[in-house]
Amino acid sequence: MNLVLMGPPGVGKGTQARYLVEGRRLVHISTGDMLRAAVASGSELGQKVEAVLAAGELVSDDLMMDLVKDRLQQPDVAGGWLLDGFPRTGAQAEGLIGMLEEIGQTVDAVLVITAPDEEIVRRLTQRVTCRVCGKIMNRKDLDPARPGVCPACGAETDPVTGKAAIYQRDDDTEATIRRRLQVFATETMAAARVLQGRFPYHEIVGTGTPDEVARKVADVLG
Ligand code: AMP
Repeated sequence: MNLVLMGPPGVGKGTQARYLVEGRRLVHISTGDMLRAAVASGSELGQKVEAVLAAGELVSDDLMMDLVKDRLQQPDVAGGWLLDGFPRTGAQAEGLIGMLEEIGQTVDAVLVITAPDEEIVRRLTQRVTCRVCGKIMNRKDLDPARPGVCPACGAETDPVTGKAAIYQRDDDTEATIRRRLQVFATETMAAARVLQGRFPYHEIVGTGTPDEVARKVADVLG
């Protein structure tokens, strides 16, 4: 099964992606994760996109399409994939349709998770992630006596980089979040409209607990 998961930042896409990937044995292709890994590694791509990510703007369509086309042709994704964070513009959506035709693949469902902007700003300014186990949490999930320790895996520092395990993403500041929401409403919803005409398409309200949203997702996927 090949899925496209869309939604504004902080809507719970990452959490739903985890459920889907584990439950349906899909390979998670997150363009945001790929770009952040490039920035962290200091690669040529990373240096090119670092400032764009920090500002909450979009990386160029050409660069993103090359990145995704290359990834979709790697052997490990042949059993099914979940595309998270791509497409983000109408041009990327058209590009995706074209590249899938070219490589003989299709999309079984497009899932768009939605939530009110104010709910998202509230969630994202509180969002923290563990560098070691990857768990995404709310600050209130941390132990007030040991706020630097991941409640999921117990790590305090990342053994690879030596950095603190618990961190807030650079682009999770209120100004950047509002800019990313604006970009979502204009650019990414245009991408959704392009895909809506082509593949099975579902909009899901992302308020409620992660399990409640997962149930709605499972219902539409059947
Ligand atoms: P995400 O983790 O999906 O929220 O992505 C973080 C940031 O990476 C975005 O704010 C963009 O700067 C960049 N990015 C990720 N995916 C794309 C894409 N498909 N097109 C352009 N920029 C992207």
